[in-house]
Amino acid sequence: MRTRSIVIPLLKWFSENSRDLPWRKTTDPYAIWVSEIMLQQTQVKTVIPYWERWMKRFPNITSLASANEDEVIKLWEGLGYYSRVRNMRKAAKCIVTDYDGKFPCDLEHVLSLPGVGRYTCGAICSISYNQPEPIVDGNVVRVLTRLIGIEESSKSKSVVDCLWSVAGDLVRHAMSLQKPKQRNASSFNQAMMELGALVCTPRNPLCGNCPLKGRCVAWKENKVEIIPAVPKRVGLTKRRFVGFAIRWRNKIFVRRRPRSGVNAGFWEFPNWEMDAAVEAKHIAKANLSLSQEELSPLCVINHSITRYRNRLEIFVIEPREKPRLTKLNGQWICETKLEGLPLTSAHRKVVDKLIF
Ligand code: SF4
Repeated sequence: MRTRSIVIPLLKWFSENSRDLPWRKTTDPYAIWVSEIMLQQTQVKTVIPYWERWMKRFPNITSLASANEDEVIKLWEGLGYYSRVRNMRKAAKCIVTDYDGKFPCDLEHVLSLPGVGRYTCGAICSISYNQPEPIVDGNVVRVLTRLIGIEESSKSKSVVDCLWSVAGDLVRHAMSLQKPKQRNASSFNQAMMELGALVCTPRNPLCGNCPLKGRCVAWKENKVEIIPAVPKRVGLTKRRFVGFAIRWRNKIFVRRRPRSGVNAGFWEFPNWEMDAAVEAKHIAKANLSLSQEELSPLCVINHSITRYRNRLEIFVIEPREKPRLTKLNGQWICETKLEGLPLTSAHRKVVDKLIF
């Protein structure tokens, strides 16, 4: 396959240009797994302090498996997509139970762990164990579609299959060229992702500095700007939520989100999704049985989740008598302890406004 000619120049480029990242100093599959899960949907510079804190607190599988769920979520707070961290805890328990606490090293067993898909499995097997397993993430998709000149949508099944097949052939070829003391499967897969992150970027790629430009179809045919094809944007949806910080004798009422669904298990101020026309005093009256004169606006937090643009309006209520809020499945907590709870980033901002 002609594409194989990229392997040697890419490995050379990586050996001279790879970033000094903390998880690159180890081959421990646990540490690499943590980094790969954190890096999904999150930038490297954001992940570094999270990874370092995590490895200090949970240095191995056993410490994660025996951790309290709230503490695990708290350490993840701010990275979002919380099902990832719940699955990590489940996988850690599974490794302790089924594999005597040792991270499995064959594809089938790694793939069977909760939250581990084809990409993460390939990353662990290749980066940690130097097995010639392919990985295809957003960076690799961009590099390969440009390199080969694929103009169809990179989401179509035929293109996805093609990319995994090419990535597999390339990493196996890299492995076949391996000399003593080299770890070519690990280096090649990381090199592909690194090139996508540093050179073959989504906008304004640095083709002039690219070690593969002589072999790149998109570069030769002046199609870099149109490959990979950009999928049509799904329309954005605006949503409005109205919430209440109810204060009673230095305590604040918070509730826990259900155990499944978005932000499962997180704590939050009671809030309801409402049309723009519904006034906060009516929402308070209907859901909290509190009267209107006790409301004062605290803040408005605008935040985005996938295609949703959410507006969270928060009002402080200081009722004269302790309200009965038993139906809300929450509890009264000292204001000083709010900071220690796992909160979504929007409600964390509310705490900052409330306390400071
Ligand atoms: S030449 Fe440009 S488009 Fe082609 S792989 Fe290199 S950076 Fe990407």
